[in-house]
Amino acid sequence: MRQAGRIVARVLEMLKEQIRPGVKTRELDITAARELKRLGARPSFKGYRGFPANLCVSVNDEIVHGIPGERTLKEGDIVSLDLGAIFMDFHGDAAITVAVGQISPLARELVEITEGALEAGITAARGGARLGDISAAIQNHAESRNLSVVRQYTGHGIGRQMHEEPQIPNFGLAGTGPVLKKGMTLALEPMVNLGDWRTRLGDDKWTVSTADGSLSAHFEHTIAITDDEAEILTIL
Ligand code: MG
Repeated sequence: MRQAGRIVARVLEMLKEQIRPGVKTRELDITAARELKRLGARPSFKGYRGFPANLCVSVNDEIVHGIPGERTLKEGDIVSLDLGAIFMDFHGDAAITVAVGQISPLARELVEITEGALEAGITAARGGARLGDISAAIQNHAESRNLSVVRQYTGHGIGRQMHEEPQIPNFGLAGTGPVLKKGMTLALEPMVNLGDWRTRLGDDKWTVSTADGSLSAHFEHTIAITDDEAEILTIL
């Protein structure tokens, strides 16, 4: 899983370099497909419940599961890239939100706080802690800064399958839920909105956007629980 995770991190890093005004989201998908193949991996998402692309690309008010296509990125957009890879039968899954050129201070704050929420979740994911400790840490980080966490979509266990038990909500109560044990592998993925937490599903039946049209950001890492601090697997 470390190898699958590292591949995801490498490809995301490459995609981040490619982000600039004028790039079509489809071009990012082409890069993702090419680089996964070059690294000996397969995309986790393509064909998953019929998902048509290698990469999820969600722009501005789109939260997750955006399908790359003819949309052209513009100065001031924020774009969330979510990528899963299968390597030697194991999955890695990670997401980043990237600025396109100069973005507004509010968008910058949203992106930084969402990344901070993921870090808070990872810090809480120590062996012997409870699953609810992760959820609460993510929720508190975002809500204490007047942002909202998406409730309808969650993090998840990950391993030989992309989505395994348990579901990991981005809200919840500390001290509740199953105890985290060494060797568990989890994908934590806060989705944070500038406005309300409610979502709507697009006409393509995939793209999830904020119901109120506010901006949304998404960060994800696959981690392994140890006896102490969690190990991040989707890292170079
Ligand atoms: Mg995921």
